[in-house]
Amino acid sequence: MKIAFIGLGNMGGPMAANLANAGYAVTGFDTQNVSIDGVTPAASAAEAAKGADVVITMLPNGQILRAVAGEVIPAMQKGAVLLDCSTVDVDSARAVADQAKAAGLLSLDAPVSGGVGGATGGTLTFMVGGSKPAFAKARPLFEIMGQKAVHCGEAGAGQSAKICNNMILGVTMIATCEAFALADKLGLSREAMFDVVSTSSGYSWSMNAYCPAPGVGPESPADRDYKPGFASELMLKDLGLSQMAAEAVDADTPMGQAALDLYRRFVEDEDGKGKDFSAMLPRFEKRGRG
Ligand code: NAD
Repeated sequence: MKIAFIGLGNMGGPMAANLANAGYAVTGFDTQNVSIDGVTPAASAAEAAKGADVVITMLPNGQILRAVAGEVIPAMQKGAVLLDCSTVDVDSARAVADQAKAAGLLSLDAPVSGGVGGATGGTLTFMVGGSKPAFAKARPLFEIMGQKAVHCGEAGAGQSAKICNNMILGVTMIATCEAFALADKLGLSREAMFDVVSTSSGYSWSMNAYCPAPGVGPESPADRDYKPGFASELMLKDLGLSQMAAEAVDADTPMGQAALDLYRRFVEDEDGKGKDFSAMLPRFEKRGRG
């Protein structure tokens, strides 16, 4: 199977390297001059896509995905799979899927969770939207780049699953952080908070697996001075996508909106940019109600 990989950044670079290491012929393209061991560079996205069985994209946003899809779809051979692993808005994912279908191609939207560590270690989780035949064709690649691929439904279902999950994550992280800050002011130790909440009805992944308090619970970015991890600006992006989707389908998501507003303030007006999204705890810690 010949693979083209477009977008060799923090995530795409190691994902492409893992496919090359597994013995696939991988041709890569990125607008930045990057070189990845085992990946043959191409002069353009279209050139990389020519003759490929699967074209993988791992790009910053929906606008860039639409532009790249416009270049690669005409260059792809009929029956090939366009596999987008970027996190983008649901509308862009569906628009690209329609364009691919009209050109006689298969396509999947398959955003990931697991971050750069997951991309490097080949342990990503893929949330996948698209047809069953397309999913079956891409499955061997998911097995190399990740540890789990969930087929969520038709085109756009992968992006929908991802933004709903990350909306819950943003909201629960904020709730966990504000509760820790309140507990501090009530004189409760962080160890006691963790011991109680992690085994009580307030538990969540944010508390139990990714505790925002340093020195408490399993090791997390809080123990590394909030070096990401999952950067606040990426959480901001995903919360923005979830509100964009909510507006499009008239869904009432007040907590998602509140989380978006808080992460926007944190990233744009406070010192949150470049910090892990769990750095909301030191933010709350320093504040009063005013
Ligand atoms: P990144 O900025 O490191 O990589 C994106 C790459 O795309 C860059 O190398 C850029 O030069 C390249 N690019 C931009 N425009 C291009 C074009 N027209 N043609 C070819 N290449 C182009 O970003 P990343 O961290 O690798 O994230 C990629 C995607 O994965 C994003 O959609 C992000 O939301 C998602 N994601 C990231 C993480 C994470 O932890 N970094 C986790 C989950 C999902």
